[in-house]
Amino acid sequence: MGLVTMKFGGTSVADADKIKNVAGRIAEAKRRGDDVVAVVSARGATTDELEALAHEVSDRPDPREMDMLLSSGERISCALMAMALHDLGVSARSFTGSQAGIVTDGAHTRAKIVEVKADRLREAIADDHIVMVAGFQGVSGDRDVTTLGRGGSDTSAVALATALDADVCEIYTDVTGVFTADPRVEPRAVKLPRISHGEMLEMASMGSRVLALRAVEFARRYDVPLHVRSSFAPEEGTWITKETPDMEDAIVSGIAHKSDEAKVTISGVEDQPGIAATIMTALGDASVNVDTIIQNVGGGGVADMSFTVPLNELPAALEAVEGVEGLGYRELTSDDQIGKVTLVGAGMRSNPGVAATMFRTLAAEGINIQMIDTSTIRITVVIDRREVERAVRALHEAFGLAGEAARRADV
Ligand code: ASP
Ligand code: MG
Repeated sequence: MGLVTMKFGGTSVADADKIKNVAGRIAEAKRRGDDVVAVVSARGATTDELEALAHEVSDRPDPREMDMLLSSGERISCALMAMALHDLGVSARSFTGSQAGIVTDGAHTRAKIVEVKADRLREAIADDHIVMVAGFQGVSGDRDVTTLGRGGSDTSAVALATALDADVCEIYTDVTGVFTADPRVEPRAVKLPRISHGEMLEMASMGSRVLALRAVEFARRYDVPLHVRSSFAPEEGTWITKETPDMEDAIVSGIAHKSDEAKVTISGVEDQPGIAATIMTALGDASVNVDTIIQNVGGGGVADMSFTVPLNELPAALEAVEGVEGLGYRELTSDDQIGKVTLVGAGMRSNPGVAATMFRTLAAEGINIQMIDTSTIRITVVIDRREVERAVRALHEAFGLAGEAARRADV
C-alpha cells in the first residue's frame, strides 16, 4: 500500500457531473488500496470571475482581501468533492490550505510555501479518510490566508506529496499528457511517455502550459515523480522524473513556444561597469520579469542592450527604464510583435550541432532570428510573432519528433 497525491485542474471539476466523475477516480484509487490525498482547483473559470469581480468593486483591490476572495474558489470545489465522495460510500474530509498546514510567506497573491505541517492530514489518513485539500492556498506566519499565484494548485499538490512522502504526484488535467509540441499548433505532435524534471522545467518556463513552473521546480528539488494525465480517459500520461542516462539519447524532446512577448532595446548606452546592473535593478524594482538579455558593444564607448519581457509588462518596463536617473542613451525602442520558439532536450548537452540544424531549418523557412538564448538543454530563438507557429511545425519535422516519442515509448 502506498500514498498517492492526485491533483485535479479547474476544467476537470467544472460542473456537478465532472465533480462526480473525478470523485469516481479518487474513490477507485482508494479502493485499489492506496491512501489518497487529492488537491482540487477552483471550478472552471471561477478564479478569473472572482478576479474580475474584485476589479469591478475596486480599482486597486487590496492583496490580502484578494487572497480571501480567490481562495474561496478552491474551498468550494474541495467541499463539493468530499460530498460526492460520501455518496460513493467512501469517507472523505476536506481541508483548506491553512487547515492542511501549508505555511507560506506573507506575499499576498504570490506567496511561497515555506513549510508544510501535515500532522492533521496524517491523522485523517490514519483514520482511513480520503483527504481533500483546497489547492492554490496556504496561511502566512501572521495567520492570514494567502494564495500561491495563478496555477498554484499544482504547487500545492507537489508540496503535499513531498511533505507526506507520497509515491507519486498525479496531475489530472484536460489533456492526456505533455506533448512534443502544442497539438493545437502542430497536429502531428505526440505525447511524450517520459521527460526529465529539468526538461519539463525548461518547457514550462518557455511556454508549455501543462504544469505550473513553480510546481516543476519543487518536484525537481525534492525528486517527486509527476504523472500528468487526463481526468477523462484512463490511459497513462507523461511521467516526469529524475533524469536517467537513456534520456540523453533523445537529442530534442520537445518544442515550446510563446506568442505574448515583447522586446525592449536601449541603443547607445554608456559601455561602463554598473550600467546593466542599474537597468536591471530598476526593472526588478518594478517587478518586471526580464528574460533573454543581449548586449552588443557598439563601439565609441557605447553599447546596445536588448531584452524581452512578457507583453503585458511592456508598459511597466519602458516606464522603469525611462525612470532611471542619469541613464544616458541614444534611443529607447520596443517591439510588441515578437514570440519565442524553444527546443528542449537533455541530449543537447552531448550533441553539438543542434543549433546549426535549428538555424538552418528556420533559414529555409525564411524566418529571421532576432535573438538567441541557450542553456545546456535548451535553445531559444526570438522571432516575429506571426512566424512562431510555422517555426514550431518546421522544427518538429526537422527533428523527427513524432518518431522520436514513439521510439522512447519502446524503451
Ligand atoms: N484556481 C487557480 C487558478 O486558476 C489555481 C489553479 O487552478 O491552479 O489560477
Ligand atoms: Mg486553474
